Amino acid sequence: MVGGGVSGLSSALKLSRHGHAVTVVERDDTPMPASADEAFAWDRRGAPQVRHSHAFLARLVGLLKANEPDVVEALMAAGAAELRFGDDLPPTMVGFEREASDDELTMLTCRRTTFEWVLRRVVLDEGRVHFATGVGVNGLTHERDDETGLLRITGVTLEDGSVRTADLVVIASGRRSALPEWLEAMGVGPVREFVEDTGIVYASRFYRLKKGEKYPPRNGPIGGDLGYVKYGVFVGDNDTFSITLAAPTDDNELRTRLADPAVFDHACRQLVATEPYLDGRAEPIHDGVHVMAGLLNRHREYVVDGVPLVLGLLPVGDAVLCTNPLYGRGCSTGYWGAHLMSEALAGREPRTGRELFDIAVEYDAAINREIKPWYESGVQQDAEARRVAAALLRGDDPDDDSSDPKTMMRSVLREGLLPALRTDPVVLRAFMRNMNLLSTPDALMKDTEVMNRVFMVWQDRENRPSEVPMGPKKRAQFLDLLPA
Ligand SMILES: Cc1cc2nc3c(=O)[nH]c(=O)nc-3n(C[C@H](O)[C@H](O)[C@H](O)COP(=O)(O)OP(=O)(O)OC[C@H]3O[C@@H](n4cnc5c(N)ncnc54)[C@H](O)[C@@H]3O)c2cc1C
Repeated sequence: MVGGGVSGLSSALKLSRHGHAVTVVERDDTPMPASADEAFAWDRRGAPQVRHSHAFLARLVGLLKANEPDVVEALMAAGAAELRFGDDLPPTMVGFEREASDDELTMLTCRRTTFEWVLRRVVLDEGRVHFATGVGVNGLTHERDDETGLLRITGVTLEDGSVRTADLVVIASGRRSALPEWLEAMGVGPVREFVEDTGIVYASRFYRLKKGEKYPPRNGPIGGDLGYVKYGVFVGDNDTFSITLAAPTDDNELRTRLADPAVFDHACRQLVATEPYLDGRAEPIHDGVHVMAGLLNRHREYVVDGVPLVLGLLPVGDAVLCTNPLYGRGCSTGYWGAHLMSEALAGREPRTGRELFDIAVEYDAAINREIKPWYESGVQQDAEARRVAAALLRGDDPDDDSSDPKTMMRSVLREGLLPALRTDPVVLRAFMRNMNLLSTPDALMKDTEVMNRVFMVWQDRENRPSEVPMGPKKRAQFLDLLPA
């Protein structure tokens, strides 16, 4: 296993529980922290996103409960909590009745460092997985497989000059994975990749409630998009929460200013959703603001036209497919990928080249069937969000072309879907199932009942008071409100 982040640990846990002997090679030299709070200060420079806001979606929680319930128990014991659909609805919601399927719609509130620390502790405590930390992998060893004529991976080379052999190498080295270069060095590739900028830069800050204080009651969505800035509040474990503000990549002024903690906090106080969290009930748990740029959507193809590039190699998580962090999907799809891998391997002790070929193809088909559609829908959404942000940065109206059919659809989303999410439990449920990867990406749009309800709200838009803005309408107003 190359990499000991969420995808590497999930794969290690699953494969070791299926009886495989697993070694995890993790470059970060990371002695195990003793508590969730120590884990927050963990040196994880190989995965700098760990100190950004993370949502843990119902798809992940459901798979864990079905397959590794002990992990969920350990997370809860470490201070994580369940966020069940229906428990915290805004007072504007009318006629909510719990349905049996709502039990599936349970998210987990937890810091990413806590999640990874608990997962690693479960893996370590079992004593079945060997960890080699503080040394990176820098290449692959291989031989020719006579049966298929393809190259077969036989192990990895380490930065300290040693070699480790393996029947199967799982690459879980994250969004900066060097796998394409390693393959090219063997004369394989170039690996075909599809890359789309998410168009945003992340700025996150973590806080803890003061003793005796509580999280504010829900009075509306805790995340949203003003076009020039996106925002979200993420409840964590042990009375913590984080706020993320995402500025457009091209908006140098805003992204630079949000990197200042005083400006960041002040900016959060200008937004309806984030303001109550910073009304004095909490204090930051670290200095500064964590900022992360270079956020890409990227899919790399390791099986082309039904043929694996090499045998004995299975990439998982961000190393094969990474998505816009705003949708909060990466840990869920990383774990899900590990699950699909373990299904492809179930009951098999791959020895021959043909067996390795079949496993790679089956696993790749499962990723393409289950996970890739979410990547594709995210890329489409990002293209639209980038267009809106660019228009706003120029000072233009993003909706000035009434002949564009998308202008009408945007109006339906803004003046139909968004208000319906505050009032109609049927629409909210369908939206939340979609957001939590429990339906298909197009399920919401294809659901006639849901879309009829959305259109009814949209058609009524002239008859109701205009929506309360969730923050300054214009970027310039927002910037004017921030301290110099
Ligand atoms: C800003 C931000 C916010 C996010 N928010 C969310 C969210 O809300 N919800 C969500 O589910 N996901 C979110 N994600 C995505 C999520 O963090 C990733 O999808 C997830 O961490 C991927 O896990 P991974 O194990 O594949 O990679 P990583 O967690 O990046 O782990 C890769 C590991 O491999 C190690 N490594 C790399 N190269 C080598 C090598 N050569 N040798 C040995 N070790 C190596 C690294 O040190 C690292 O530990 C976010 C991502 C970002 C960037």
